[in-house]
This record gives sequence, structure tokens and C-alpha cells, in this order.
Amino acid sequence: MEPIALSFFDIFKIGPGPSSSHTIGPMRAGFHFLQALQKADDLVLKKAERIEVTLYGSLSATGKGHGTDRAVTAGLLGWKPDTCDAEEMLKIFSQPEDMVHVQARAFSFPFAGKDIVFGDIYHSFPYSNTMIIRLIAGKEVLLEKEYYSVGGGFIQCKSEPKKESPPPRYPYGNMRELKKALESSTLSIYELLLQNEEAISGKSRSQIEGELDRILDVMESSVERGIKEHGVLPGPIKLERKAAALHRIAQSQLMDVPDRFLVLLDAYALAVSEENAACRLIVTAPTSGSAGVIPGLIYLLKHYFHTAQEDLRQGLAVSGCIGFMAKHNASISGAEVGCQGEVGIASSMGAALVAACDHASIDAIEAAAEIAMEHSLGMTCDPIGGYVQIPCIERNAVGAVNAYNAYLMATSGDPKKKKISFDEVIRVMYETGRDMCSKYKETSKGGLATCHIFC
Ligand code: SF4
Repeated sequence: MEPIALSFFDIFKIGPGPSSSHTIGPMRAGFHFLQALQKADDLVLKKAERIEVTLYGSLSATGKGHGTDRAVTAGLLGWKPDTCDAEEMLKIFSQPEDMVHVQARAFSFPFAGKDIVFGDIYHSFPYSNTMIIRLIAGKEVLLEKEYYSVGGGFIQCKSEPKKESPPPRYPYGNMRELKKALESSTLSIYELLLQNEEAISGKSRSQIEGELDRILDVMESSVERGIKEHGVLPGPIKLERKAAALHRIAQSQLMDVPDRFLVLLDAYALAVSEENAACRLIVTAPTSGSAGVIPGLIYLLKHYFHTAQEDLRQGLAVSGCIGFMAKHNASISGAEVGCQGEVGIASSMGAALVAACDHASIDAIEAAAEIAMEHSLGMTCDPIGGYVQIPCIERNAVGAVNAYNAYLMATSGDPKKKKISFDEVIRVMYETGRDMCSKYKETSKGGLATCHIFC
């Protein structure tokens, strides 16, 4: 099997909400096109009159709700997801007559909302989330790039081959191969993952651990911001935030009230998902829509169970490895496989995270990840109005609780007696996603998206 050559920081990306495939991916595509413009010939730039972006598939169906228009524009202006000012991004095209200027060396191109075309929802491109960016003079196309936003903020450009990373030190393509590599190397899972990360990224051990700590910090601050915020989230649904209210209830409960622990976990996961819906800075885990599950669990482990930073870092790395296997062998895109690939995988990663923080065996980690995924199979993606709010926000809290429960079940019996492997459940998830009708895959044409809501 082809070895996984993904980095922790491919799965955990810092960026503005609300959607990795509809916000972070398009921003990266816009930035990539800007780089192509910077390298273009002077004669081409001199002749060019305008830039046009056409969105297809789910990007067209729910791009407005996800802020895809603002994100691709921010990328064309040279903004990057991890360093952009999420509040400033909200101001792009806030008025219908607003216009920006895309600057390529000495040449400047006016760009307005009308230059973004919402194209066909159903099409024949190889990926649902397709966008084409063109540099145009009259009817002549001077430069054209076709991008696919394939989930989790990853993009592929049709005309460019995938970047080859150096090979990992301990190659594996799935859980079965990972377990073999662990057995023959006698390394701990964290050590094996770190050595692979060093080989793939060329970074030193201290750099990698520093970056994992930064991811943990950003996750923690997104919980802390979210549990203090009140009011209504952006968009026509007028959904009220509720993380702060749940947090207040949990704080007022006595330490020995059993529900307190669950209310806290709900509040932490909701807090991050509400921040994501408000287009604030979050970490994809593995996507923005599912960004609340892992930080919710991490915050609970740190502040309720007093888990040490070193253990959290290890747990985060192990959860990233579950994300690698899902991305490598299936998909983490709601537009491709429904929400089972987003909150389902986040839940699976979260279960592995809690098990790893508890120093559980690789069999127990696998069992935890498998149980959480098994009971997320078939979950559709049907966000109301294309906004990552209903069902997404509450679903993150449910996903975090599912993860914790899966960890409890996996560690309370003999994980070796489990009948279904993680590799099998990932295969089934992918097949289920491929069979799923497209109205349940981030088009907002079916499921809950058809419900009447009270605004
Ligand atoms: S329903 Fe799930 S997959 Fe779809 S946008 Fe919401 S969180 Fe993402």
C-alpha cells in the first residue's frame, strides 16, 4: 500500500471559519493564483482586463453561506489562512458595491462580487468542490487554473502534479501496517510518528513539538473565547450561541454532580464550533465544520482531568494519525462522503486522542477510533442554508461525547476481541459516502436543510 506522507500540520491547520473546504481551501486557491499572476509575463498582465472566479458543485450551492466569495478574494489579495485577520475578512464585500484591487507586480485588476460566478451544482469535474480562476481580456482567456478543494483545506491544481514529500522513516498506509511497523521497530506510537514527521517535513524534534504546542494553544484559546461570547451568530438563521450558558450551568453545579462533566464537554465543543460559525480563527481537526470535537476533549482533559501537556501533545499526534489514515484511504470532505467524513472522523480522532492520553495500547487506540467511527456511519451533510450552524454546531458536541464514550468502551474490555478493524470501518465509511445521494453531501438540497426553521 502507498505509504502515508502527510504531516500533522496538514491535518491541523490554523485558519478562519466556517469551512475548511469552502473557506480555507478557496483562500489557498486564490493565493496560489496570485502567485501564478506574479510569475506571468509582462505582456500578458498588460493585456489583461479582469479576473473571474467560477465556483462549482457544493462551492456554488453553499458558497455564500460559507463565505467562499470572501475567502477566494482574500487569497487573491495575498492573505493566508494562518496569518489572516479573521475580523477584517468579514468586511470584504460587506456592501454590494464594494470592490478590491488584485495587485500583480505593477499591474492592478479591479475585482468585485460580480466577478464571482456561482456555476453548476451538478457537473462532471472529478471533485465536487471545483473552482476555476481566469485572467481575461475581452473574450480571451490569458491564464486559467482549475482547483479542487478536497476537504480539510487541502487543494489540488489540475495542471500541477501533487508535491512529492520525502518518504517517512517508518512507512505505513493503514492501521494494519502501522501496527506491524510498531511491532518491528519496538517504538512507541508517538516516537514513530515523530520520526516520520521529521523525515517528511525536514523539521527538528523541538520545532515539531513547538508547533504541536501552538496548535494546542490555538485550540485552547478558541474554547476560552467561545465560552465567553453571547449573542446571535452571523447569517439569516439568527442562531443564538449557547456555549456560555452551558458553561455557566456547569460552573454552578457541584463537583460531584455526574452530569457536570458532560455539560462541560458540550460547552467546550460548542464554544469552538460557534467561533467557527462566526468565521473566527480555529484549527481544522480534521475540518473546520468538525473543529469543535478535538479542542473540546483537549480542554476537558487539561482542565478537568489535569492531563499533562506532554500527554496532550502525544494524544494530539495520535489523533492526527487517525486523520491521516482517513484522508489517505477515504475522504474527510463532507462534499465527498457526508458528515461521517467530518464529525465522524473528528470523533474517531478524538476517541484515539483520549485513549493515547491515557497511555492505552495500540489495540485500545484502534478500538476507540473504530467504535467512534462505526457509530457515525451514514451521517449526512445537510447544513441549513449552507451555514455551518445547524446541525454542525451541536453535532460537534455530540461527536465529542461519542468520542469519550468510545474510549470508555474500548478500554473497559479486551480490545483484541473486537470484531471489526479500523481499516474495515474506514473502507465502509468511504463506500457509504460514495453511495450517498449528492443532496446529502454539502449541497443543502436534502435532509435537515429542507426543514422549516423559525427565524
Ligand atoms: S453537516 Fe457536518 S460535514 Fe456538513 S457542513 Fe456541517 S459539520 Fe460539515
